Amino acid sequence: MLERHAGKTLADIHERRGDLPAALTMFKIYLEASELLGDDRSAMALAYYQNLYETQDKERQIQILNQQNELLTLSRALSEKQRQNLQLSLIIGLLLIVALIGWLVSVNMQRHRFRNLAQRDGLTGIANRSHFNQAVDKMVKDAFANGDDLGLILMDLDNFKAINDSYGHGAGDWVLKNVAEICRHKIRKNDLFGRIGGEEFALCLPGAGLEESLRVAEICRKAIKAMDTSALGHSFEVSGSFGVAIRHPHEAKLEPIFTRADNCLYDAKHAGRDQVRYEGDHL
Ligand code: GH3
Ligand code: MG
Ligand code: MG
Repeated sequence: MLERHAGKTLADIHERRGDLPAALTMFKIYLEASELLGDDRSAMALAYYQNLYETQDKERQIQILNQQNELLTLSRALSEKQRQNLQLSLIIGLLLIVALIGWLVSVNMQRHRFRNLAQRDGLTGIANRSHFNQAVDKMVKDAFANGDDLGLILMDLDNFKAINDSYGHGAGDWVLKNVAEICRHKIRKNDLFGRIGGEEFALCLPGAGLEESLRVAEICRKAIKAMDTSALGHSFEVSGSFGVAIRHPHEAKLEPIFTRADNCLYDAKHAGRDQVRYEGDHL
């Protein structure tokens, strides 16, 4: 009797708590204990509990499905967000790389520009004396190491002081610039052309022997002589004297070659200017 009532009470308690499977079990125990299993009213009550249980089960399933749906939507939103974040990180990374490359290129260009400025003569744009000496020193060393020919031409404009005095310093500058421009176009890419003094120029011709060096010197001499100064409002003749020397097989330094070329230039001046002299003249 007690067991029977306890079964019914427990079934009620479980129903109130919403634990329908437990309530159903308890109710079955109660029915068995009360020997009511099989009677119509108890069958209806059992059906009621079963129905309640199925409804609750379905609701739970729907709830689980809804939660799964929600979870799926959230996970989709999350992966979309992750994709966007990854895309953003890639874009930022790419922009940083581009900015870094741009900065490196500009630093490199600046360095190149400064180095170039430090090596150039301000008036003519060709190599200045210190760069010429440094670069030619290396050319001579290389020529020595490889047993190559190397020619050196020194050139000094004739009576240049008189040009300044007669037509002004500006005209003198114009002549210097034009001489540099004319000769610059008569040499090869590997040759080096420099302004080594006020109206003194030098040309280094790696790989050139005496014949080739004399040929270039003569071409420059003629080109300077043919220079048209009418743009200055005055027509006058410009000329230069040239001294040519070549590297001797045992020579690894510029200095002795330079001295020989300078001596030849001195000879050219003394022989009446506007001419090319070479070291063979001394022998
Ligand atoms: P020579 O034929 O013996 O070489 O005579 P020169 O008059 O050319 O030589 P000199 O050394 O007597 O004079 C060189 C002149 O070059 C003197 C100097 O004022 C001038 N000079 C040097 N640098 C510059 C420059 O940058 N611009 C101008 N306009 N003149 C310069
Ligand atoms: Mg001079
Ligand atoms: Mg001179």
